[in-house]
Formats: sequence, structure tokens, C-alpha cells
Amino acid sequence: NKKKLIAGNWKMNGSLAANEVLLKALIAGLDDVACDVAVAVPAPYLAQVQALTAGTVVAVAAQDVSRYESGAYTGEVSVAMLKDFGVRYALVGHSERRQYHGETDVAVAEKAQRALAAGVTPIVCVGETLQEREAGQTEAVVKRQLAAVIHLNGHCISEIVVAYEPVWAIGTGRTASPEQAQAVHAVLRAQLSAASEHADRIRLLYGGSMNAGNAAQLLAQPDIDGGLVGGASLKAADFLQIIAAAR
Ligand code: 13P
Repeated sequence: NKKKLIAGNWKMNGSLAANEVLLKALIAGLDDVACDVAVAVPAPYLAQVQALTAGTVVAVAAQDVSRYESGAYTGEVSVAMLKDFGVRYALVGHSERRQYHGETDVAVAEKAQRALAAGVTPIVCVGETLQEREAGQTEAVVKRQLAAVIHLNGHCISEIVVAYEPVWAIGTGRTASPEQAQAVHAVLRAQLSAASEHADRIRLLYGGSMNAGNAAQLLAQPDIDGGLVGGASLKAADFLQIIAAAR
């Protein structure tokens, strides 16, 4: 049985002062942790978060990574730069990047490839919109999104993490039911199994309004191997309860 992973995604929140308060409370509250823990922080705070989490179980994650290696790409952050700050994971293809920054399936796959090549584990995010769910397209959408990544990264697919985040559940307080989430996770697991004999090793996270109250039930599903937590990761007590539920 693989260790679960609970990753916080701070999104565009935080400040030097707030990050310090949050991380100190988080680290002080960690006790007998059974899962892996990470926080995905805004790029300007990577150095601060690396220093504050040094020697703890909390791993540093980035919220994005450039698909390019280096050069004339104003505003981009390369995977080599992330490595300089001890980054262990990078989110790729978060729905907010797909929605507001025009990230295509191909761009997401290239970002995953760039991360993998440098030894940073990509957390590949997939998920349908409400409109797509209501049109009965959920399976087709998540399979298409994952297929692009498998196509480009097939040989090292066992090194990725996948996060299923239904767009309608993100920041809405409307979480997928454990059954709804498990159904999609089973589809993703089958797709990964067809591509790799090591699919069992791949961690499939659920994200979308996960909180201290619903985490245990979601994490009890057979194909849910962790969580990608937005809002609740900004409150140490809530995030700690989610971590405690991941056994
Ligand atoms: P919320 O937990 O705030 O719904 O956000 C989920 C998410 O998008 C994590 O990446």
C-alpha cells in the first residue's frame, strides 16, 4: 500500500509574514505523520518556504513550471530554477492555468516532461467543468487530458502524480461525493494501467473543496491516494486535520 500524499495549493495567496505564521503552526502540529506532505507556493516565496521547511516532512512544491528549458521566455520559471530551491513537486495543468492562461493538453504534457527530466515530480491536474459533466463528457474529458501526458511521457509515467479536480468543485464548497470521485479515479487508474505495468504505484489525488470534514471519507476510497487542497491548506488547523485523515 503506497503512502498517501496531501498537497496544499496556496494559489495566489500569502505574504512573508503570513507564510511564516502558517508554516510554523503547521510544522508544530505535525505529529506521527503517516502520509507525504507538500505545499505548493507562489514562486517568490520558494526560498522562504525552503528555509522554513528544511529538516521537516513538508516538501516544497511549485504551482507551475515552464515547458521551456531556459532563454527568452519573459515571466517564466524553469525547472532548473525550481531545483535550486529544493522543489520536489510541481503542479502542471491546474484548471486555473488551463482556464485563465490558455494551457493546452500539449503544453501540460510538455511541462510534465520538463519536470520529469529534471527529477521534479509533476502533479498533473485533470478535471471536467460543470457543463462537461452535465453533458455526460466527464470520462472523455479527463481521459483526453491524461492521454496527452501519457503519450509524451509513457516511459516514465510511473513517476507522476495525477490530481483529479472537478472544476465545479474547486473553491465552491461543493465537493464531489466520495462515490463520484472514486468513479473517475477508477477510470484514470484503468487508463494508467493500460499504459504502464506500474500504474499501481501512481498516486491519484482528489481536489476540490476538500476540507477537515470530508477528507476522511474521500481518502477511504480505494483509488484515492491523497488530496490536493486549496482553501483549507491556508489554515494550519484544517490542513493538519486533513493530514491526520490520510492513513
Ligand atoms: P479548493 O480546495 O479551494 O476547492 O481548491 C482546490 C484546488 O484547486 C487545489 O488545487
